[in-house]
Amino acid sequence: MSIIDPRGRLIDYARISLTDRCNYRCVYCMPEEGVARLSHGGIMRYEEIIWLARVLVSLGVRHIRFTGGEPLVRKGMPEFLLSFRKEFPDIRLSLTTNASLLGEAAPVIARARLSGINVSLDTVDPVKFSAVTRTGDIRDVFGGIEAAASSGISPIKTNTVLMRGFNDAELPEILNFAWSLGLIPRIIEFMPLNESLWARDSFIGSDEIKSILNSLGDWKPEKTDSQYPRGPAKYFADRATGRRVGIIEAVSNHFCESCNRLRITASGKFRACLFNNREIPLLGMVRARDRDALTRAITEGIGLKPAKWTQASDGDGNMSGIGG
Ligand code: SAM
Ligand code: SF4
Repeated sequence: MSIIDPRGRLIDYARISLTDRCNYRCVYCMPEEGVARLSHGGIMRYEEIIWLARVLVSLGVRHIRFTGGEPLVRKGMPEFLLSFRKEFPDIRLSLTTNASLLGEAAPVIARARLSGINVSLDTVDPVKFSAVTRTGDIRDVFGGIEAAASSGISPIKTNTVLMRGFNDAELPEILNFAWSLGLIPRIIEFMPLNESLWARDSFIGSDEIKSILNSLGDWKPEKTDSQYPRGPAKYFADRATGRRVGIIEAVSNHFCESCNRLRITASGKFRACLFNNREIPLLGMVRARDRDALTRAITEGIGLKPAKWTQASDGDGNMSGIGG
């Protein structure tokens, strides 16, 4: 079985948010005071996520990524990943995390045979790191990355949201840090999801990102991400060293045409597109274990997937709530 949307796109990738909560308050993602928290009863329980995933997998989903908020702040998350893997031995399973809690969790998580993790890393400077995350200590992240690497989790990719005047000049250092540890750095264009968090002056488009990169190497575009051919990142390899870097042109050059993803928020809302705020609540169907209603809702939801994201105003909300 496979899910093909009305525009012919194969939808086989689900990003599931495990929580809207986070121990950080990154300036571009969350307001300083945090977001109104969902009640415990309002978020999907682990067994509900597994049941929902069974339906998704039966419909053709082959890759599930857990995200958030910060997935590791949710109690029992590493053990949940192990149960999840036991239930779904063959799918691609991955995680997006700020890595701050990975130090302890990595050895357990590694047993879930992840296909890789993505770690947010906007700076390698301890003072700037505390400023951009508002609450973070970079030593936790370094420890988390080290624990993940020594537990054998691979590949580890870093996500750097590039912001003018904040980390653009630091980019060589950030890339060198990643390469020195065998990680794959990726640079993300700042996305206009919430006007109040969106400082337009900070935006750096992919043309400018490429020209910064050109001063750092002789880049050959890779045809696809060999790890995952339809991911949003465009990868480049340095002709001299073979070192790789990815660019996620989330704003200036959309990957909508090849988008293969659906999203489920922590409260069980289906979202067909990051930039389209129409959501379908699935929690009641999941709680009632109503497979037919759920299948119908997901199929209808996929039909809402826009052909292309066109304007910033489509966005509403923070990445932490949607599941970035
Ligand atoms: N807490 C985890 C983390 O930080 O990796 C997972 C959730 S976070 C919302 C997922 C990714 O979204 C992070 O790499 C973060 O940098 C990115 N992100 C959040 N808000 C963004 C924005 N406005 N523009 C671009 N990327 C954003
Ligand atoms: Fe938390 Fe990740 Fe958002 Fe930062 S980007 S506030 S770590 S959810």
